[in-house]
Amino acid sequence: MRILISNDDSIYAPGINALHEAVSGLGEVHVVAPAAEQSAVGHAITLSDPIKTRPVERNGRFFGHAVGGTPADCVKLAVCALLPTPPDLVISGINLGPNAGISVIYSGTVSAATEGTILGIPSLAVSLNTFSNPLWETAIEVTRRTVRWLARNPLPAGVLLNVNIPNLPLTQIRGFAATRMGQSRFVETFDKRTDPRGNVYYWMDGELQVIGNSEGTDLEALQKGFVSLTPIWFDLTHYPSLPLLAEWVEETADFHNPQRSDS
Ligand code: MN
Repeated sequence: MRILISNDDSIYAPGINALHEAVSGLGEVHVVAPAAEQSAVGHAITLSDPIKTRPVERNGRFFGHAVGGTPADCVKLAVCALLPTPPDLVISGINLGPNAGISVIYSGTVSAATEGTILGIPSLAVSLNTFSNPLWETAIEVTRRTVRWLARNPLPAGVLLNVNIPNLPLTQIRGFAATRMGQSRFVETFDKRTDPRGNVYYWMDGELQVIGNSEGTDLEALQKGFVSLTPIWFDLTHYPSLPLLAEWVEETADFHNPQRSDS
C-alpha cells in the first residue's frame, strides 16, 4: 500500500511525525506537506503564485517535500507531479485541535483529505481534540487501528472519513462511534489592538456554539470520550429545499416575460 500523508499544521508539526509513526509499518509512506502552518485555510488552492518545494530531512534522512502552498495544493502536487504513481490512500493530520461540527468547513486538515477524495483516492482526516498537552501515543494507536480497518473496508467513492480522537489515555477511550457532523457555528470575538506605528489591527478568536440536538454527532462523541468517525461527502445540495425551488421555477416558467409570471 502506498500512503500519502499531509496536514495543515506544516511538515514541521509534531502531528505529522505522529501520523508518520502510526502508518510507517502499513506501507510505503510519502510526505508532502505545507512549509508553514495553513490551519483554517479551507480548500484554498494557489493559482496566482508559483508553488515552491524543498526537501526536508529528519535524522539525516529524506523525510518529505515541504510545499509553499495550501493542504489542497500539497495533495494535488503530490499526486500529479511528485509521486511516481498515485497513492492508494491519502491521510491528513494528525491535527492539533478538533475538526468536528462546522470546523470541517474551515479545516485545512479535512481539505487535504477532500482533495484526495476528489482525485478518486480513499482518504481520511485525523484530528486530536486538544490544543495543549497532546497525547500523541493515543492518537498514533487509534490512527493505526482506523487505517488498518479502512484499508480492508473502503468507503464508497467520493466519501472521506473524518476522524476525531479524544485527548485521553488509551485506557480511558470508550471506543469508536459512527457519527454525523454536528450542527454548530463559531461565535467570534475580535480583539482590537494597535501596532507600534499606531495602526489598528484585529485578532480573531471564536468559540464553537452547538446548534440544536447534538445526539449522534461528532461533537457529542468527543465529549463522551469516543473516537468519532464521520463519513463526509461534498454534495452540498439541501435536497428538502428542491421541491420549494421547483415550485417557484414552475411559477416563473415564462422566463422571457417576467412581468407576466413574476409576482
Ligand atoms: Mn491545523
